Amino acid sequence: MHFETRALQATRTHDTQTSAVATPIYLSTTFERNEENLLPNGFIYSRTANPNRDALEKACAALEGGEVAVAFASGQAATTTLLQCLRPHDHVLIPDDAYFGTPAILQAHFDHWGLTCTKVDMTDLEAVSAAFQANTKLVWVETPSNPLLKIADLQAIAQLARAHNARCVCDNTWATPVLQRPLEHGFDAVMHATTKYFGGHSDLLGGCLVFKQNGELAQRARQLQQLGGAVPSAFDCWLLLRGIKTLALRVRQQSANAAQLAAFLATHPRVERVNYPGLESHVGYEIAQRQMEMAGAMLSFQLKDGAAAALLVKSKVQLFIRATSLGGVESLIEHRATAEGPLSTTPPNLLRVSVGLEHPNDLIADLAQALG
Ligand SMILES: *Cc1c(COP(=O)(O)O)cnc(C)c1O
Repeated sequence: MHFETRALQATRTHDTQTSAVATPIYLSTTFERNEENLLPNGFIYSRTANPNRDALEKACAALEGGEVAVAFASGQAATTTLLQCLRPHDHVLIPDDAYFGTPAILQAHFDHWGLTCTKVDMTDLEAVSAAFQANTKLVWVETPSNPLLKIADLQAIAQLARAHNARCVCDNTWATPVLQRPLEHGFDAVMHATTKYFGGHSDLLGGCLVFKQNGELAQRARQLQQLGGAVPSAFDCWLLLRGIKTLALRVRQQSANAAQLAAFLATHPRVERVNYPGLESHVGYEIAQRQMEMAGAMLSFQLKDGAAAALLVKSKVQLFIRATSLGGVESLIEHRATAEGPLSTTPPNLLRVSVGLEHPNDLIADLAQALG
């Protein structure tokens, strides 16, 4: 079955009472027992399980090709839970170029929990191989990476992890399962900030973990979700299930728009460099061609005249919205070094763009006038 069909089938629910085609929202926190003291539909209390969350989790698992998914109240709640599945004195490999919250939670919290981590360039397989320690239990990959759009070789890293008896998980937020499915390349789990493309309309926070197998790791994550309680609301689950129905359509069109924008920027005399894996000049182009259906809707570019030039371009755009985050239907532009603060290692002349569903010619015209 093709992805589009799978997305529609996986988000289909059956309300036996009303035969409603659109899924009802179950706001109830608690569920009634019958005279025999049984729970006829299996639901007991919405922190443990809720019909909308169940439906969302089944859909997420189906899209990534995993046995089970566990949904959370944000992407960071999903990341934190996966790390909590490890034990003190375990070691984690993380990318040197990752969503800033991933190293931040490791350093701010898991440091004194006894979990150690090493940052490594995931595009350098020799460096990855050399970074393993006897207690390395997890390899965290993010590809394309934030904000430099570096491409890690999923298959090669999964092989290295397996050889070292470590699990591997991919933050697949940017590519989405429309364009890239890490479980098919040997990964054990996938993490999503569903806040981004799954929701798609910049109006909810959510996260999920999808596991290849419903094994020990998945069961620990489920237990932490149910007992820890960082669960999404029924309404957010409902919005996400609705978002998934148009995910493929949005992501493909946004990626096609991004490819046009990248091609325009690559020829502009004031642009020093465009970071977009769909350009043949990108060092990860070949790997991206192999493991991604399209190169995605995120790109970043660097100005020849430094940070001041980047800030000036950002101040002059009219269609792009100057805001953080990504994955919504509207195009956003951001100076990442400002957003990340004084500890940022992002080049100061870099602007990151989340390409939306406006017409690409209008977006190009806007950047052209801003670049002057
Ligand atoms: C946004 C994002 C996250 C964190 O998700 P939240 O929902 O903001 O907690 C993690 N990884 C990537 C790649 C993201 O873009």
